[in-house]
Amino acid sequence: MRQRLVAGNWKMFGNCAQNQLLLEGVAARASAIGRVSCAVCVPFPYLHQARSVLANSDVGWGAQNVHQWPEGAFTGEVSVPMLVDFGCRYVIVGHSERRTLFHEDNQLVAAKASAVLEHQMTPIVCVGESLEEREGGVTEQVVSRQLEAVIGKIGVDGLSRSVVAYEPVWAIGTGKTAAPEQAQAVHAYLRGQVAEHDDNVAQGLTMLYGGSVKAANAAALFGMEDIDGGLIGGASLNLDEFVAICKAAAG
Ligand code: PEP
Repeated sequence: MRQRLVAGNWKMFGNCAQNQLLLEGVAARASAIGRVSCAVCVPFPYLHQARSVLANSDVGWGAQNVHQWPEGAFTGEVSVPMLVDFGCRYVIVGHSERRTLFHEDNQLVAAKASAVLEHQMTPIVCVGESLEEREGGVTEQVVSRQLEAVIGKIGVDGLSRSVVAYEPVWAIGTGKTAAPEQAQAVHAYLRGQVAEHDDNVAQGLTMLYGGSVKAANAAALFGMEDIDGGLIGGASLNLDEFVAICKAAAG
């Protein structure tokens, strides 16, 4: 049985007062659901707050990005050892907003995943195609190139300690969710790709779907054979929605 996971991606939202309510609610209601791990990936300045509220709960916390080097003259960047200092368990790497808005390419995403693994945290490696790529019929080529670059750097052993999130770019923050069958098809394709390297790793790999997941569509998506949970943006900022999504992943 694969580990199921629901991870919230708060993006660049929140403030101390709002976060406190949300974190306390998540700690109280998303702990001990059973059969699913829950986590929130918060903006860097709030990692301390996430740790203090979630430390005695079952809910994990993490970051949404990191620099690939452990230290140096990189003004404005945050390193992996700094995230370790704040007790992070997860780091999202290669989110489409980072790839598109901050020009992160496959090699950089792979380097970040590798740095995260070196410090015993779990990278949540995002892959996904744009609308143009889907309409051009190249979804599989795009996601497989993105994943292969990461495998090339961290190996299947590294992948076995990672989580993969399939997030079609056209579904992120748009309200347009991929149909469960559409998402399942890409998950199965990616799992097949990993199986070509190592079938055991493929069968054990936790693969999340992300893209406008809400309480109303979560159960249908998570009911698909190769979908092991979700990476949740907008809906993770709403306590009732997020808790309902976590429960849907528990089955
Ligand atoms: C995301 O940011 O990873 C995401 C999936 O966003 P949303 O759920 O808002 O589409």
